Amino acid sequence: MLNFTVGPVMSEDAVLEVAGKSAPYFRTPEFSQIMKENEAWILKDMKAPKDARCVFLTSSGTGAMESCVMNILNDKDKVLVVNGGSFGQRFVEMCQLHHRTLSEIKCEFGHQIRREQLDAFKGQGYTALLINMDETSSGTLYDMKLVSDFCKEEKILLIVDAISSFMADELDMAELHAAAVITGSQKALALHPGIALVALAPEAIQRIEENPEVCMYLSLKLALKNGERGQTPFTPAVNTLLELHARLSEIKAHGGIEAERARIQKTAEDFRAQIKDLPFALASEAPSNCVTSLRPAHHNAAKIIQIMKDEYHIWICPNGGALSNEVFRVGHIGSISPENNAELIHAFKDMQKRDLL
Ligand SMILES: *Cc1c(COP(=O)(O)O)cnc(C)c1O
Repeated sequence: MLNFTVGPVMSEDAVLEVAGKSAPYFRTPEFSQIMKENEAWILKDMKAPKDARCVFLTSSGTGAMESCVMNILNDKDKVLVVNGGSFGQRFVEMCQLHHRTLSEIKCEFGHQIRREQLDAFKGQGYTALLINMDETSSGTLYDMKLVSDFCKEEKILLIVDAISSFMADELDMAELHAAAVITGSQKALALHPGIALVALAPEAIQRIEENPEVCMYLSLKLALKNGERGQTPFTPAVNTLLELHARLSEIKAHGGIEAERARIQKTAEDFRAQIKDLPFALASEAPSNCVTSLRPAHHNAAKIIQIMKDEYHIWICPNGGALSNEVFRVGHIGSISPENNAELIHAFKDMQKRDLL
């Protein structure tokens, strides 16, 4: 099966080789060394500020989002959440569950955030802003400079969910002045699921140290403490962490993260150029390199996905919730190339001939 979803995605051979082995015992200096290298590489690739740290949680991306809401924020915070789709909504629900005082900045599906929307919350004592850099449900890449400038002016702590953006879109944690940046193993890192990564700037680390402990498994305080010796508090997804090391070594050997990002961008641009005469409309006005969301003009989106899977053996990605019949998405992350795009386009054209598109 060709996989054009947004995760889990197809992995390269060097990663699959590691995945196929038994997990080694991990409380060893050798594993700690690998983890230290993972941390240093991720911080470098995120352009993290001086004295930042990165921790590795054994959870999906959502675990890291919730852990930031629990451990970095506290009940004195006034939180802004940018909500332009299902991942923004997830932050909203987490904040409600953990009794955070919050206001939502609602963005229409597929729309860019505008300065006026932020300005409406100026000077009102907000202390933190949560945003999904790429709102993956619509594939919209938010204008992070706009958001970051607002947070700098208002002295608001910025927490960025870059789960689908890391490596696909440009990201400079220090320049954004982000306190925390979250990503996950199964998106552009193209590893098996199981690991969520959180890069933490000194402001976030200080808050974590000062806040009372509210959980154990997702405790960032424990993760930071154990990370000092290259370890995790509990048994991690050992193989996924070894896959990460193999993947980062490969990236380093092939031109670094900039080259990987350029490759993903090229794959996205190639796809978007090739769909020009197909009956689709782009569903986002500011598409991320990670994914293209599309509204088919004539047929049901869920039906198209099903036919693509069952008859052409290609996975494209459904949209959950209210838009499941109207929108589908095509991912550009993982071990996928313009040649694979050509196969997908060929399948779309065949469906068109059969009057199924
Ligand atoms: C994939 C994704 C998540 C997390 O999803 P999990 O299934 O918990 O890994 C969160 N935010 C964004 C923007 C995502 O793309």
